[in-house]
Amino acid sequence: MNILVLNCGSSSLKFQIIETDIEHIENDSDKRLAIGLIERIGSQSIITFKACGQSAFKNAEPLRDHKAALNYAIKWITNPESHIPGINDLTDIHAIGHRVVHGSERFKKSVRIDDTVIEGIEDCIPLAPLHNPANLKGIYASREIFGPSIPQVAIFDTSFHSTMPETSYLFAIPYQLYRRFKIRKYGFHGTSHRFIAYRYRKITGKERDDVNIISMHLGNGASACAIKNGKSVDTSMSLTPLDGLMMGTRCGDIDPTVIEFLAHNEGISMDEVFSVLNKRSGLIGISGLTNDMRDLLDEEKEHDDRRARLAIDMFCHRIKKYIGFYTAETNGTDAICFTGGIGENSAEIRKRSVANMDYFGIEIDDKLNEQAVGGKEMKISTEDSKIDVYVIPTNEELILARDTVRVVLNVPRIW
Ligand code: ADP
Repeated sequence: MNILVLNCGSSSLKFQIIETDIEHIENDSDKRLAIGLIERIGSQSIITFKACGQSAFKNAEPLRDHKAALNYAIKWITNPESHIPGINDLTDIHAIGHRVVHGSERFKKSVRIDDTVIEGIEDCIPLAPLHNPANLKGIYASREIFGPSIPQVAIFDTSFHSTMPETSYLFAIPYQLYRRFKIRKYGFHGTSHRFIAYRYRKITGKERDDVNIISMHLGNGASACAIKNGKSVDTSMSLTPLDGLMMGTRCGDIDPTVIEFLAHNEGISMDEVFSVLNKRSGLIGISGLTNDMRDLLDEEKEHDDRRARLAIDMFCHRIKKYIGFYTAETNGTDAICFTGGIGENSAEIRKRSVANMDYFGIEIDDKLNEQAVGGKEMKISTEDSKIDVYVIPTNEELILARDTVRVVLNVPRIW
């Protein structure tokens, strides 16, 4: 089956076309046929498409909304000159998988999209006011363009974490507030953490129930996940993706009193406070320079910039905090797995995040650590290390495509 995987942001549309089916999943032989990104939807959009083995197609064109963007992408996908193997017209796309950020307590697994599911995703908007409306735009647009006959599936960022126990997901606020408003931890990056658990299982040959790891997704957004017996038992993002680890522009863990203090003393509105915490905090807030980890590491190295160093040290300190917390919470872990742009590429951050943890017996092999960049999947700890350390490049789109197949063919999870 050729699956179109869609990931819509407020002004962006990312897609992949992946050829996969049950046999491909079993043999791990899924094929990515094309990828695409449209940014700045609503103004002069920037378009980058690429079919496998072909050179990239780049363009800039005004695309007024997600429907126009999807139409533009479909035109390119079905154009024979794009040379996407096996794709000549719309009927060569067999199903569509949509990334949906928030599924609340309602969606604990991926589901086929119908009117009721759409209503359910709309009901989750108050919990993810920035993300779910954008995801819905992709769903509305593809329903209009493809019509009702093509199966469409929603895959939720939150659903992998639906196995968390109450002790992990409840905030210690009056229980009625959870009852009334469903205020609780939901967790995000679920497809990424799930992929990491799956790859770790494949690499080590373990059964799903024997996967006991801490997955560290470190990108511009960052989250940690404690996985015990193959299931998420805790994660660092909570009601929203603002909580937990320090991120590119987000603060992560914070005393809620800071919010009142800021509003009062800076004389700013709640919206402005949250804009500070979401967009002007984290790496950029501390360094005063950038949210880009690569640039910060360069600043630190080349100019010995004090605040760049401080931002990096705080970022690593917070990772360490979660490793300690989750190791205790799960009564010992077998491995720490790094992923995401930073986790997959920065030997320096990996090294500093697990440095001086002799009590835990974590030992990184410097040579292996340096080698693990640019999409390599490998173990980077020494043979003597008490806890293994892995770098595992994430592949959320693969999870989206495989879940789409699974839901459409109505087969239970087989991997
Ligand atoms: P997003 O959350 O937006 O998907 P990514 O997973 O793409 O983010 O990660 C982006 C981050 O990864 C940026 O901070 C970028 O600087 C960082 N990054 C990418 N390559 C490297 C590298 N070689 N060294 C350090 N950081 C890197």
